[in-house]
Parts: sequence; C-alpha cells; structure tokens
Amino acid sequence: MEKKPVSVPTDRNANLVKVSCPVCGSKRSRFLFTVKDYAFRVTDAPFGVRRCTSCDCGYLSPRPAEVDIAKYYTGEYYWSYERAAEKLGWDMIIAKRRIQLEAKSRWLEGMKPGRLLDVGAQKGEFVWWMREKGWEALGVELDSTVPNPANMPIRYGDFLNMKFDSAGFDCITMWAVLEHVYAPSKFVRRIAELLRPGGRFIALVTNFNSIQGRFFRLDDYPRHLTYFTKHSVQDLCRRYGLNVIRMRTSQDIFGGVLNGGMLCGLKRLFGYSADEAFSEWRQLWEPDLFFCCWRGCPSALVRNISRFDRLITLPVEKMLDRFGLGFIMTFSAEKQSL
Ligand SMILES: [Zn+2]
Repeated sequence: MEKKPVSVPTDRNANLVKVSCPVCGSKRSRFLFTVKDYAFRVTDAPFGVRRCTSCDCGYLSPRPAEVDIAKYYTGEYYWSYERAAEKLGWDMIIAKRRIQLEAKSRWLEGMKPGRLLDVGAQKGEFVWWMREKGWEALGVELDSTVPNPANMPIRYGDFLNMKFDSAGFDCITMWAVLEHVYAPSKFVRRIAELLRPGGRFIALVTNFNSIQGRFFRLDDYPRHLTYFTKHSVQDLCRRYGLNVIRMRTSQDIFGGVLNGGMLCGLKRLFGYSADEAFSEWRQLWEPDLFFCCWRGCPSALVRNISRFDRLITLPVEKMLDRFGLGFIMTFSAEKQSL
C-alpha cells in the first residue's frame, strides 16, 4: 500500500518497562491512551501514556528500557528538523535554523554574556549562535555519533556524571531535551547545582495540558518520555531552588505542529482508526501520504481539504498560545540567591 522509508520490525517483544512518575515518583496514575513510534517507525510496539494523579504530568509507561533507547534515535533523527535528504553544510544548517535560533536567543535578552551550557546540544547550532553573540558557550550531548560540523566545544556522554569546574554557569539551556531524559528531576537538580545564584535555567518542553498533546498525540513517542504541564514544571523547579519567572507557549521555536489537525479529525470521522491516522500524519518522510491520500491512494478531495487545514489550525494554535494552552512551552527559572 505504501512505501516505507525505514523498515518496520513488528517488534512486539521490545524490551519495555513499566515505571512510576518520573517527576514526583508517585505510583498513582491513570492510563490515557496507547501510542506507537509514528515518526520514525523503529518499532511497531505499543506504548502507554499515563497521567500521574499526584503531580498531574503525563509519562510513557510501558516505555523502552534505558539500555535500548539509543536504537530509537536513528541517523535521520538529527536531520529531521532540516528535513534534509542528505547532510548539509554548516551555512545551510544555520540558514534553515536562523529564525529558530533568534527565537531561542531572545530568551537570554537582557542578560550579560557569560558562561552558558547547552544540554542536549545536538549539532552545536545554539552553542555556535551564542558564541557569535559573545557568550562563553559549551554544549553537552549524550550521543557521540551526532555530527559536530562546526567543531564546537561539546562534551559527549551522560550529563549527570560529568564534572564541571565550580565557578557556576550564568545560564543553562535545554531545548526540547527534558522530555527525552529518563530522570528529569535528577537533571533539574544537577542544573540547579551548576548555576550560580541568580543564574537562569531556560528550557523548552511540550505541554501536556494542550489539545495538541492530549487529543492529537503530537509528542514524539517513544523518544518523549515525560509530558509536562505548567504546574509540574513549576513544582519541579521549586523543589531545587529554581523560581520560574517567565513561561509561555508559542509558535516561535517549533511552530506549525497542529498542521493537519483538521484533516486528522476528518479522517477519523470517516473511518480511520486512531492508529492509522497518527501513523500517516506523524511520519516525516512521505507527507503526501497523509495530506494528499486516502488510505494510500491519491485523493483530490483530501488534497483540497488539506489546503484549507492551515487556514483553520494556525489561528487555533495562536489563540491557544494566547491563553498559555499551546503545545510548545518555554520557561525561564532563576536560581534563588543564598
Ligand atoms: Zn508525578
């Protein structure tokens, strides 16, 4: 029926583990829905999304065992933002990310350039951008196979086991990383230790209390393991002496995520199962399959509806952001002075 850019092992015996809440540790939770690896199709195994009834955040359980997680990050993963069929030169990477990098750096406006640590630095784009602005920036990246085309100062390995000199960072950033890690509370604790008093922790996560997160299942399963809410972020930061001073949802850094939402709703209404609809929509490499086809066959009707989709979904996203209910949530937290 459809061409698949990556093979899909029907790996129903994937090594999955059930866990308690990764933010507060509570075992009390409610099952919400089943999801699959829609975007990269590393496996066909089903995962569960639960909501913690103590701290209200969402999390994946069962989820891949930590020893297996590397296999869910394929080589394509690190190029998915650029949608690049082949590896790009540095100038082209920066050109494609310029608007995003500008939006990220606006969160540091008003701060005097100092020592910056970017946790989950990927190819080093933000480290490079902030060094250009005069910051003494360095990065940390778990996966040493991620390319580092501009030869940025990036340390590879497990952030929780890394030693840094004791001077303290002025700012630590985590762009779309906290939802990927196995122990988010340990990361926030370590970040709080590494910041100087008055230093800032700036991070972007997905918002589980959004239509996109709850009903359109837009999180990147199973790479996203924790689904934060405004209150769970505030509680987590407060626990380690970090005071959230600014928080908003917006389209600035990762926009357009609900593109296709209306079409998804219509496909569901007229016969697609949830699994079918999300499997077509969230896969990255054949957009026509969702936006122009009905069950794998080209359809003029589907193509015409999808032309109007963005006209409807973009204003909806903007309105949700206005009320802080959008999908992409960024916050800045200040380390309290002693
Ligand atoms: Zn919890």
